Amino acid sequence: LEWAVPALAQLRPYQPGKPLAELERELGIRNAIKLASNENPLGPSPLALAAIDQALPSLALYPEGGAPQLRAALAAGLGVDPRQLIFGNGSDQIIELLCRCFAGPGKEVIVSQYAFAAYAIAARAVAATVREAPARAFGHDLDAMAGLINGHTRLIFIANPNNPTGTWLRTAELERFLASVPAHALVVIDEAYAELMEDPDYPSALDFLLRFENVVVLRTFSKAYGLAGLRCGYGVARMALIELLERMRQPFNVNSLAQVAALAALGDHEHLAATRDNNRSGLRALQRGLLALGLTTLPAAGNFITFFAPGGGRQVYEALLRRGVIVRPLEPYGLSEYLRVSVGTPEENQRFLQSLGEVLAS
Ligand code: PMP
Repeated sequence: LEWAVPALAQLRPYQPGKPLAELERELGIRNAIKLASNENPLGPSPLALAAIDQALPSLALYPEGGAPQLRAALAAGLGVDPRQLIFGNGSDQIIELLCRCFAGPGKEVIVSQYAFAAYAIAARAVAATVREAPARAFGHDLDAMAGLINGHTRLIFIANPNNPTGTWLRTAELERFLASVPAHALVVIDEAYAELMEDPDYPSALDFLLRFENVVVLRTFSKAYGLAGLRCGYGVARMALIELLERMRQPFNVNSLAQVAALAALGDHEHLAATRDNNRSGLRALQRGLLALGLTTLPAAGNFITFFAPGGGRQVYEALLRRGVIVRPLEPYGLSEYLRVSVGTPEENQRFLQSLGEVLAS
């Protein structure tokens, strides 16, 4: 197969968290818990499930390509023009679209060390050169990133907060950085966890869209809205930029169930509030529990915490697996001494902490 595109030589498949069913089959157990992929432990909104039920008889029909109803509702909620939105099969697909539209051979894409892995994969897939800025205190070092900008730079990815390190940039520093970036470099601010961020100094990058033409904001229905399995994410940017992305988008990339479920989920404020409450108390419980076990953690943000695993992440990960608790090893990020745990229900958090305590004591 040596005639495949050369970019493939640099790529390895993204390693997702182990699926629950697969682990249960392997271990011959039935009550495993998965706290490995930053999903919503409360599940989707009941309104989303009802909307899916209602849409089932229409599955023989193609979805509406531009997701018009979801687009209108979301635009109204965000206070943007509907033409400023693009929907994807997960925000992953928008990351890929951005790379296909703006990067490519001879072009450069800037990421941070420890950044969410999908950026570099998508950039390498289009044969762009990936420049990685060293992290500062596990987070984005904006000065180091700015130092990598040159005439070939086309995309700069910033996850805010960053998965898996939980670090996040405050309004003022992000604003200062944006002011320094030339127009030919797009700054993609990935806010996958925005709905779960409660600090008043957490910037909504949507506010930057008015001031900076080269900003793209990414959001998703996979996290706070509990619809990871349906794959629906979106990008927000100025209209001219979205219009370019739309040319490259597959015509039916967001399936009809995802569209109706996302629309219904948007309207379920009660479920979102319950999700936030569970997340807030879960983060606190996990932080307290990890501290009580004498462990060091990186900042807790979004719906996950990364912690130092004495004895090595791989061993602790496997020992937890044998107890039916799936967390995320971070070797692909060069953080092999760390593990990431997602907030679960109170019972799941408790079981994780209990199991981790047993593992560390054994
Ligand atoms: N960005 C970040 C920072 C993420 O953590 C994730 C999911 N792990 C994504 C994007 C992708 O989300 P989606 O399910 O919308 O593709």
